[in-house]
Amino acid sequence: MFKRTLKKRIVCAGYGLHTGEFSRIIIHPASEKDGILFVKKVGNVLRYLPLSSSKVKSTMFATTIGNDDFVVFTVEHLLSTLHGFGVDSAIIEVEGDEVPGGDGSASLFADAILDAGIFTLTAQKENILLDNTVRVEHNTGYIEYTPASTLIIDGVIDFNHPRIRRQQYTYHNSPEHFYSELAKARTFGFLKDYTTMQALGLARGSSMENTVVLDEKDVMNTDGLRFRDEFVRHKILDMLGDLYTLGGSLKGHITSYKSGHSLNHMFVNKIASFMEKKAIVAPQTLQPALVFTV
Ligand SMILES: [Zn+2]
Repeated sequence: MFKRTLKKRIVCAGYGLHTGEFSRIIIHPASEKDGILFVKKVGNVLRYLPLSSSKVKSTMFATTIGNDDFVVFTVEHLLSTLHGFGVDSAIIEVEGDEVPGGDGSASLFADAILDAGIFTLTAQKENILLDNTVRVEHNTGYIEYTPASTLIIDGVIDFNHPRIRRQQYTYHNSPEHFYSELAKARTFGFLKDYTTMQALGLARGSSMENTVVLDEKDVMNTDGLRFRDEFVRHKILDMLGDLYTLGGSLKGHITSYKSGHSLNHMFVNKIASFMEKKAIVAPQTLQPALVFTV
């Protein structure tokens, strides 16, 4: 029910999945007024980038946010972790252009946040709840929203690949469920797309250390999968991160079919347009406070 931040600062470092360059983020505890605020030293001046859906600059294979001062590539796994743990306020100092990729999942951030601990602030959480259904579609994919008192994401993917095919997973947002069921699900890619992505300046840091790689028939990583349905879990992890660009936690039952970053942001923009029209409120009493015990 109350806003949350970290008990102490954490540092995450490593190579970016897309730029392939080394970067570092320092996540500082913040006040309830700060929200999720990215900060970067540009020259000798500190520049600020408050998270909102209007700051999303690209959704091609990853989510990039930015303003006139700086951009940050591949924010979705970090944002997913903050959303999963219910962290409403954090100042994220960025050194480099991309959030570190870790092992391609959210483990790098989730383990660090667990280690630091959560601090409960005194202001009420700002949840987002619409009173109407919302649907967006693109090609054969869609995302549908119906109002509910908690966030549930029911995701389905369907890939014409023998190791994926149709997978379904239902996620109920809570720190415990996030940590045990989503955080470890890694990003995945197809070997046949690798050359194209590199030509677009993407996947420059990807390897089997941080990506589940599929050839025509099978998973190429020698240690296999972490979950039988790791692929759909990762898609839901991505969506949870993309939804956090709304600037608060959306409450509702989301059904998705073949979601991806572009479709996620079509959905986010539609929700944001309703928020503007209706001055959507924070229904504070809908969800009891979640206490995560380390
Ligand atoms: Zn991802």
